[in-house]
Amino acid sequence: MINPAQVKQLLRSFWGCGRTEILVNTARTLLSGGTCTAPVLRCRVQRCTGLTWVVQCLIRVSLCLAGISLLPGHADADEGANLPPREFRSKNFVMRTDLPERDAQQLLDKMETMLRIVSGYWGAPSRKTIECCVVSNADTWPAELLPAPVRPHVQNGGLTVAQGVRIGRQMNVSAVSYASSRFGTPQHEAVHAYCYQTFGSTGPTWYAEGMAEMGNYWVENNSGVNTPDYVIDFLRNSDRPSIDEITSLDQASGDGWRNYAWRWALCHFMVNNSNYSDRFRTYGISLLNGKRQTFGSAFDSQRKELEFEFGFFLDHLQSGFDCRRCSWDWKSRFRTPRTDRPLSATIKADRGWQPAVLRMVPGQKYRIEWDGTWNTNSTQSRPDSSPKSPDQPSTEESPGQQLLKGCVMLQGQKLQLSEPFEVHSGKSFAGEFAGDLYLRCPDSWDSLEGNSGTVRLQISAEN
Ligand SMILES: [Zn+2]
Repeated sequence: MINPAQVKQLLRSFWGCGRTEILVNTARTLLSGGTCTAPVLRCRVQRCTGLTWVVQCLIRVSLCLAGISLLPGHADADEGANLPPREFRSKNFVMRTDLPERDAQQLLDKMETMLRIVSGYWGAPSRKTIECCVVSNADTWPAELLPAPVRPHVQNGGLTVAQGVRIGRQMNVSAVSYASSRFGTPQHEAVHAYCYQTFGSTGPTWYAEGMAEMGNYWVENNSGVNTPDYVIDFLRNSDRPSIDEITSLDQASGDGWRNYAWRWALCHFMVNNSNYSDRFRTYGISLLNGKRQTFGSAFDSQRKELEFEFGFFLDHLQSGFDCRRCSWDWKSRFRTPRTDRPLSATIKADRGWQPAVLRMVPGQKYRIEWDGTWNTNSTQSRPDSSPKSPDQPSTEESPGQQLLKGCVMLQGQKLQLSEPFEVHSGKSFAGEFAGDLYLRCPDSWDSLEGNSGTVRLQISAEN
């Protein structure tokens, strides 16, 4: 955390003018107990420079000091180089860094890609150049480039400082990011800087940090999970906070990587799940524009389904898991088949659980037959039990092509799934559960992206 004296010194380092004094005094009144409990600061100033009168001035200090520190991982930098900081530029960034030139250029490329993704997501191009300092070894940096209050915090984390003016609806905010070269911190801090300069805000802490972590991990045209294994292990094996707890407005940045992991998980899920992604984008932009609606009220009408799907995502979290391909279909109508009128459904090989439209009754016998062709990874076969031509791969060589996986959404107040089971084409089976049948290609959850093809089902009840 940063204390009032450090804030004052920090601000003086950047903007050593009378205006800064006014802001610092206001900042000090908002800081208590020697720690920064309210990193978003607002104040009014009487006069700026020359003839310009400023109606409102805002300063925000975004602290990500502990967000991704103390973690295992590789350094992005050649830490033994001990180079002096130099300036590198790209289309949207000016970066000062002590990284070797090749690493610096590679990082700039990553930052440009990240910026293209996030600005495309929010539908708002970056308003101005983003200034950032990426630090491998703080000892090589002069004080004028790396102010003393920042130094302790760029070892394993980062800090973004924004300053600007707003006159009515007009806004001009500039941000400077300071980041360790490790753990993707430069990308994380650059998201903060982009949000400040584009919207004047980063939104509440959970959204600011969750989306900044998205910037760290986002891969263009790939919605699969791309976080390090230790984050996945933590999220899968820890007691889960509720969504209300994750999105509580009573949070401050820099409160530890575990909280950052939960924020990332929720934001990643919401950005990529097609049931919620559009509304989440609109809601997020409203947060960036200063609205304070809680997450719970924004998604109240979808709360039951959202909590189920978020829990399902965490249950199956692994590298490559794709929320977009595993979005639940809540619109299909499930029915009870008649013996003389089978139900029809289609199952895609590249999706998660899909409605088979069968409402099962315990003890009732059913028969499912299917036909169609699909590709799973590198194999191709007919996913039925009919004889194969010699030039078709044997289904024995590609287990899973002969069968589908099934599960039942159990009837009841709570959305709950049965244990998965196997469904074979042309074989009768008795319903064990009361509920709605879902089927999927029996492929691993991280392999759906490489699959293609469709199975057409006929489901009938047997006497
Ligand atoms: Zn942050």
